[in-house]
Amino acid sequence: KGSDGKFTVSLIEGDGIGPEISQSVKDIFSAANAPVKWEPISVDPVFKDGKQAIPDEAIDSITRNYVALKGPLATPIGKGHVSLNLTLRRTFNLFANVRPCKSIQGYKTPYDDVDTVLIRENTEGEYSGIEHVVVDGVVQSIKLITREASERVLRFAFQYAQDIGKPKVRAVHKATIMKMSDGLFLSCARKISKEFPNVEFDAELLDNACLKVVSDPTPYNDKVLVMPNLYGDILSDMCAGLIGGLGLTPSGNIGDECSIFEAVHGSAPDIAGKGLANPTALLLSSIMMLQHMGLTEHASKIQAAIFKTLAEGKTITGDLGGKAKTHEYADAVIKNL
Ligand code: NAD
Repeated sequence: KGSDGKFTVSLIEGDGIGPEISQSVKDIFSAANAPVKWEPISVDPVFKDGKQAIPDEAIDSITRNYVALKGPLATPIGKGHVSLNLTLRRTFNLFANVRPCKSIQGYKTPYDDVDTVLIRENTEGEYSGIEHVVVDGVVQSIKLITREASERVLRFAFQYAQDIGKPKVRAVHKATIMKMSDGLFLSCARKISKEFPNVEFDAELLDNACLKVVSDPTPYNDKVLVMPNLYGDILSDMCAGLIGGLGLTPSGNIGDECSIFEAVHGSAPDIAGKGLANPTALLLSSIMMLQHMGLTEHASKIQAAIFKTLAEGKTITGDLGGKAKTHEYADAVIKNL
């Protein structure tokens, strides 16, 4: 917090529609008098010791500010390009990916009462990047599960459930088949649950969870779901589908020191620069960020204005069936503040 009473936040506007949707966040925050000062940074990769790396200025900024908001980054497809998103996660050890899935009034989906939270282990599991060829035609990818990373994400999940007032944590796993790796995750979950006597704990097999969530998501409303990396990647997008897709889904990547909040969608190159993008997902991510910073009043005020604008349905963007341009939607949110 600076002497002007404002908190400095690193802002990675990102590629494609990133600058347009970031502008909406900046306009709405300033109209709502949110005490946030943006520090724009670029994470365009540089080469350090022959390897692709994030520029030092960007790392210094996030380290100094503890909190960053990030627009989508385009990942070039092909060999030699490490995903910048993955690099950011590794650089700041962002071990938990938090994805709230809450129905949005005004956007009709098969269910209108979804309200669950999914937490994904973000650093290991199937995404450890340890792969090799055994012999020609036979490859191995290693699924790495450690007690340290499992306990860390599980403890965070229990604490998060307690903080947001959800009474239950459920671990999602396949320990029936992955006896050692998921078995370790599950036994860590049982152990950590003892540290949180006020939070109920149980576990569910991944396949069963998928079947049940899409059949009726309401029994999941009192729960925080926590799981290893790959399961979380897939199940979180499935849950995003329940509330209207990626354009409405926020997320937070939480680390021990720094945290980065970002929309789940990509840079949407097909509509970039045309003023057609829906900034809601980045806006809702910025609200998670305000909550994380303890600025709950500002978070609630902006969130209410967004939900009101969507529920009115008069000034919404094309992806939601409306005709409004990005800035017209942002102006409508500002009027509803
Ligand atoms: P995408 O999410 O960018 O686009 C998929 C579709 O959804 C497109 O039709 C797009 O127009 C639409 N869309 C996405 N966000 C929207 C929004 N806010 N408002 C309105 N419409 C929206 O996915 P993609 O096309 O597979 O990926 C494009 C680029 O983004 C790739 O380079 C990919 O690597 C990158 N990407 C980045 C992230 C991230 O930074 N977290 C996530 C996913 C993809």
